[in-house]
Amino acid sequence: MSEAEKIITCPYNRAHSVLKGRMQFHLTRCRKQHPCAEMGFCPYNSTHIFPKIETEFHLEHCDSRIIIDTFFYQMGDSECSAKGACGLNVDLPPCQENWDDDMIEGSVLDTVKENAKDKNVLIGIVGAPKAERKAHRFQERLRFQRVNDGEIAQVIIHSLF
Ligand SMILES: [Zn+2]
Ligand SMILES: [Zn+2]
Repeated sequence: MSEAEKIITCPYNRAHSVLKGRMQFHLTRCRKQHPCAEMGFCPYNSTHIFPKIETEFHLEHCDSRIIIDTFFYQMGDSECSAKGACGLNVDLPPCQENWDDDMIEGSVLDTVKENAKDKNVLIGIVGAPKAERKAHRFQERLRFQRVNDGEIAQVIIHSLF
């Protein structure tokens, strides 16, 4: 028995058993006997408008649904077609970063300052009182000028300043 030969029940009248392949035609006739039926929209295609009572039948056969289902199936099942075409398969060096090591005690700022000690870095204090910040900035400037002697500056300025 083919799909079209399956017998399904008319949504307007349970007494109507109709061949699946004929249902579309049958519905247009039954619809006329229910002119006041509440209308509904297809969730897959807003141009599909039909009496709400036909929703179940419509969703079974909606061609837009078939397109969307196929799309998701392909999305979930296939490999990225760009893979290999854009250099993603290049051998990367092993990751040196260990995120656990970053979870050291003390503030992030301390860590940054520690790392910046011997570099040309201008450090700002986040959240410090204004005067303290000012003094600190001044000191940093001095230090910055000292280490900057004859070297190319590598400056990180906190956006707060
Ligand atoms: Zn019917
Ligand atoms: Zn539809």
